[in-house]
Amino acid sequence: MLRKQDDYIMIFQDIFRTTQPLAAGEPGMKPKNKLSRVLIVGGTHGNEFTGAYLIKKFEQFPELIHRSSFETLTLLANPQAFTAARRYINKDLNRCFLRQNLEDSKLSSYEDLRAKEINHLFGQNGKTPVDFILDLHSTTANMGVTIIVDNDEPFNMQLAAYLNYVSPSVKVYSSGNSGRSHNSLRSLGRFGIGIEVGSVPQGVLNADFFLKTEAIIYTILDYLQQYNQGKVPHFPNTLIFYRYMEAIDYPRNERGEIQAVIHPQLQFKDYEVLNPADPMFLTFDDQIISYQGNSTVYPVFINEAAYYEKGIAMCFTEKHQITI
Ligand SMILES: [Zn+2]
Repeated sequence: MLRKQDDYIMIFQDIFRTTQPLAAGEPGMKPKNKLSRVLIVGGTHGNEFTGAYLIKKFEQFPELIHRSSFETLTLLANPQAFTAARRYINKDLNRCFLRQNLEDSKLSSYEDLRAKEINHLFGQNGKTPVDFILDLHSTTANMGVTIIVDNDEPFNMQLAAYLNYVSPSVKVYSSGNSGRSHNSLRSLGRFGIGIEVGSVPQGVLNADFFLKTEAIIYTILDYLQQYNQGKVPHFPNTLIFYRYMEAIDYPRNERGEIQAVIHPQLQFKDYEVLNPADPMFLTFDDQIISYQGNSTVYPVFINEAAYYEKGIAMCFTEKHQITI
């Protein structure tokens, strides 16, 4: 027996603030940009099994993601990488969607071709252009359930604020100037967000994060349905979010080899305060390397396995509070 969404809300009272439905907005508040097509994407990174297997589940039980006011489509974005349980075959698919790259006929790696194919299907000039893209990811960092927005686009921020309201443990991360607003798969949609859950090892399904991701997908689909009906729920409109500042590499020797581990006091402390002089790394000769900056930062993606090859040990963010 498949569970209904209400059951998920009962199960996940730890992530959902309330089992009471929120008051609906006034009917008659006409949405400015009604959504007609929503795309749920998993397996953009082939070894992130949470999203990939949720896509498999939704393909098997499409009624779970059916909502009457829009069409819901699914996509297993990188099937070859998923089969190989690898992040990618030739290059990171989620960096392949720059407009100039999509138009560059010389780019012909598996992921470049796949990006062009996905753009032809779902891009704004594609066969079935999508209004909203929900891209499902997992991380080996301890980021819990994180909503990723790539810019300050009001529709996405409003949705992120809503999810943070109904589920206060959900964090909101803005990828800022890290490039995702231009080169990620979700940048193809008019609107779109990412969901990042962890800590989950690569190539592993974890029931807790699988069910939490599934629950938040239903909450998002219901929100989009209410939006289309001009009935977006009322909720307090302040939002705390964490904006990307810079990526921090591991200490390396002259040959480029890593010379330290994340300091044990920092491991798994995503979204926690890192103050000047706090320890960041422990070198192989047992020296502590501390944070040398002048301002408090909030590291995320601490010790993300996929980022070793990118030269990223963590990303610094700054904490913001805004009124939507
Ligand atoms: Zn990913």
